[in-house]
Amino acid sequence: MASRPEVTPKPKIALEGEPVLEFQPAVDLGSGQVLGFEALLRWAHPTRGLVPPGVLIPWAESNDCIVELNAWVLDEACRQATAWPSAIQLAVNCSLVQLRRHQASVAAARALHHSGLNPDRLTVEITESAVADERANRDLVNLTHHGVHLAVDDVGTSWSTLESLRRFSIEVAKIDRSFIAALEPQEGMNRAIVETIVHVSHSLAMSTVAEGVETAEQVRILQELGADVAQGFFFAPPMGGDQALALATREPPGRFELTEPAQQLAPTS
Ligand code: C2E
Ligand code: MG
Ligand code: MG
Repeated sequence: MASRPEVTPKPKIALEGEPVLEFQPAVDLGSGQVLGFEALLRWAHPTRGLVPPGVLIPWAESNDCIVELNAWVLDEACRQATAWPSAIQLAVNCSLVQLRRHQASVAAARALHHSGLNPDRLTVEITESAVADERANRDLVNLTHHGVHLAVDDVGTSWSTLESLRRFSIEVAKIDRSFIAALEPQEGMNRAIVETIVHVSHSLAMSTVAEGVETAEQVRILQELGADVAQGFFFAPPMGGDQALALATREPPGRFELTEPAQQLAPTS
């Protein structure tokens, strides 16, 4: 059996505490199967507790340590993913600052090399604004040269044209959770927006992931609209690496209920 890659040294940045990764499963809306996990960064601070990425990332960007921090995320997430079955995918978020400095592709290449993870199992998530940013273009192209997949996160929040996503071979559109949260009122605009995103994405050969799915009714509507994959508290909140490993390596493979709020995975036998 291949030995597990060595633990990645923690980044040395001017903040007390240490980084922690959580993983949230992405679930097939047809079968309920776990297709992969998104790595989500937190910072364990000795007095402030777990600092969420919404606070940590802007802080790291303005304190010039986002490149180092996100390189650690890639390294550590790839290392943990090597223990999952090879069919299970990993998604990692990436900052615009990293892309502008042409460092996302460098960090991804290094993480793949250190871990031995097949590049085909790694998806780098970028924001819509990164697709429209000229200075980020080169690094996006470099990322695809390394064989990793690209997903665009929070689609719908800045309405860059979906057509422009094809320029960088982006394969996945992640629909922002604000649209999913407002799906349920029948007469609402959000259903039309989600339907349009799914339709245009499919016509561009991109798959769609709905983020922030919290109810069985949202699952039902998303199935009706033809969305492919879902993430959200309805299935599972972000979880620690050990829990993700247990879920990924369940035998037979883990499968979520699609009709009931799944406290637990569906019985597999
Ligand atoms: P994101 O990539 O869109 O991640 C999804 C966020 O939605 C996560 O918040 C997750 O915990 C939350 N979420 C998942 N399911 C549900 C749900 O059913 N309901 C609700 N209300 N929320 C749900 P989190 O972990 O706080 O991350 C926020 C953002 O921080 C991420 O948004 C991503 O843009 C950024 N981020 C996280 N990790 C990293 C990282 O390693 N690097 C960079 N550059 N950004 C990161
Ligand atoms: Mg994301
Ligand atoms: Mg998102």
